[in-house]
Amino acid sequence: MNHKIVIAHRGASGYLPEHTLEAKAMAYAMNADFLEQDLVLSKDNIPMVIHDIYLDDVTDVAKKYPTRKRNDNRFYVIDFTFDELKTLQVTERFDPKTGNQFYKNRFPIWKGNFKLHSLQEEIELIQGLNNSTGKNIGIYPEIKEPEFHKKEGKNLTEIVLKTLADFGYKTKKDNCILQCFDTKELKRIRVELQSELFLVLLTEFDQDVKNLVEIASFADGIGPYYKQILSEKVDGKFTFTSLVTDAHKLNLKVHPYTFRADALDEFSSFEEMMQTLLINANIDGCFTDFPDLVINFLKENQH
Ligand code: CA
Repeated sequence: MNHKIVIAHRGASGYLPEHTLEAKAMAYAMNADFLEQDLVLSKDNIPMVIHDIYLDDVTDVAKKYPTRKRNDNRFYVIDFTFDELKTLQVTERFDPKTGNQFYKNRFPIWKGNFKLHSLQEEIELIQGLNNSTGKNIGIYPEIKEPEFHKKEGKNLTEIVLKTLADFGYKTKKDNCILQCFDTKELKRIRVELQSELFLVLLTEFDQDVKNLVEIASFADGIGPYYKQILSEKVDGKFTFTSLVTDAHKLNLKVHPYTFRADALDEFSSFEEMMQTLLINANIDGCFTDFPDLVINFLKENQH
């Protein structure tokens, strides 16, 4: 893994509703290096590909199953069987309180016919396409909220590792990167569960990442929020924290999230964001909702 990698964040989610098979097929056709899967268990222990433990901001669950919400007024993936989840219509992300679409210029809300799917269904799509196209595009699964799953009496991690192994993803050579925000759980995956997969620790903005030596003892890379890499702007140019160089000294790859052409924040253009982080800060890859744009940029700017 020597070139900079493009990870399709929830698929080509800038163009189609996130984590649908359609968004994955589009990202695949764009030649992203990896497609991302966020994983949450169903009531009957099927790993589902969905960003949150909740259903009500990307599906019509509130309309189809109005009585199935918890006391906090949220609908949980874990309260529904696989067959029930399959009845839901998936749509572009929205605010369940107002009904308003989150990213205004993306795929129109409630249009089309999209469904949730399992990890197995997505791997079958990707491996099938690898077969029919001759490409070798990887998977980048994330264990979501292991503590929540444990409190619900479920062990997401073991179930996911078994599914991955069943489909041939066992070692660093198998084109699979496993990610998690939970330091304890990722360490458990390496030390107790003896996984030989390529492991990436995701980090929150306010998280202390000074313990990189400890992280490097069980992980192969880190997935920071991109702002953790940026320092102040001097003469119109961004300077950087020592995170990337410190990580590289420990042989840790750095794959920050999330590159969005329609949510630029401190950058004046997507081009500036890509130049600043991919080239100037020398990260090793990135999570993006717009894989085609990053792939084109790297084609022109990487030798
Ligand atoms: Ca994720």
